[in-house]
Amino acid sequence: MQLFDQFKKIIDKETVYENESRKMTVLMRILCLIMMAFFAVDTLIFSIIANLGGFVSCMFIGLLYFCVFALSYKLRKMPVVWLFIAVTGMWGTAMLFLFGPDSGFQTFPAFLIIIFFFASNDKFRYKIIFTFMTFLIYMGLANIYGGRKPIVYRVSWVTHRYVRDSCMLVILLCTCIAAYVFSNDSQNMESKLVEYNKKLKEKANTDPLTGLNNRGSAMEYLAEFVKKADDSICSVCICDIDHFKRVNDTYGHDIGDLVLKSVAKVLMTTVGDDGFVARWGGEEFFIAFPDLNGDDAMGILYNVQSELRKTVVMSGDQKIKVTLTYGLAEYDKNQGLDQNIKEADNKLYMGKEQGRDRVVY
Ligand code: GH3
Ligand code: MG
Ligand code: MG
Repeated sequence: MQLFDQFKKIIDKETVYENESRKMTVLMRILCLIMMAFFAVDTLIFSIIANLGGFVSCMFIGLLYFCVFALSYKLRKMPVVWLFIAVTGMWGTAMLFLFGPDSGFQTFPAFLIIIFFFASNDKFRYKIIFTFMTFLIYMGLANIYGGRKPIVYRVSWVTHRYVRDSCMLVILLCTCIAAYVFSNDSQNMESKLVEYNKKLKEKANTDPLTGLNNRGSAMEYLAEFVKKADDSICSVCICDIDHFKRVNDTYGHDIGDLVLKSVAKVLMTTVGDDGFVARWGGEEFFIAFPDLNGDDAMGILYNVQSELRKTVVMSGDQKIKVTLTYGLAEYDKNQGLDQNIKEADNKLYMGKEQGRDRVVY
């Protein structure tokens, strides 16, 4: 476990330059280590079967990967990626020369293109140019040298197969790791973004003091309702705390805020799933009752009224109680919502004139 931690620390070590994507450098280090391990095994195999050419070339390429690995602690991200691409491209090309067109060298271009696409922040144009160049080089090499006799053509059938299959395997493994790292990363990023957007939307729609929906959110809700409503009924209510200015003047603004919060809580719990509650502004609240006619909505407002009578906010040892005046209107498709809201507002005004603490419908 300790060894693993130590290993992780080495791989994860920061790049020397700030503002560099560490992820790509770390990926390069992991890929270099896989290649080094692969070539170490190959070097061993070629020494056992006493194949000097294989032994020297595997050791040489393994060493090159070691250099890229070491340089990843000194260089910027892109030079390391370019070196990695160069060494891998060279190895892929060498495969063609050494073992012929049947060597699995065709696996290399796709791998190099994937690495370049992931690593480079360049414009799409450059990625296409890279893809095209890689394609041209490999197609050219395959066509020009593919027909010639490979340099190492006297190796046994088994060795030839081993070289071809193991190279293809290690390249595919590296492709999988690179694709995993980046797909995982983009998925994480996407879900974080979705979560962040959700929070942002929630924040934009919520009144910070009371936690209720704000006016903008209420307008959105109504617009949605109107869009969907065919013959649906709905009632809207605007209510306002009575003599709230006195509460502020007598007990201070902070206690006024507490009163606002407690009224919001009563509205939220009493209306519950029967309606949509929002803070309309200042000490005014808005309630939409979808699917309820005016009489049913009035029933709920009476419940709110009686709950509010039981609610007290303490300021020191003083008990503060507030009442609301409610203006209620039923949604009329022919009038339009604006008109309905205006009607509810007028009724609220009437309620204030008539002495407050009442529902006017
Ligand atoms: P009425 O019964 O006619 O509605 O009288 P009122 O005193 O409630 O109405 P008025 O419009 O005179 O005063 C409303 C007060 O609400 C004034 C304003 O300072 C206060 N207010 C508005 N928003 C807030 C808030 O977020 N916190 C606090 N503490 N007070 C607020
Ligand atoms: Mg008021
Ligand atoms: Mg008011």
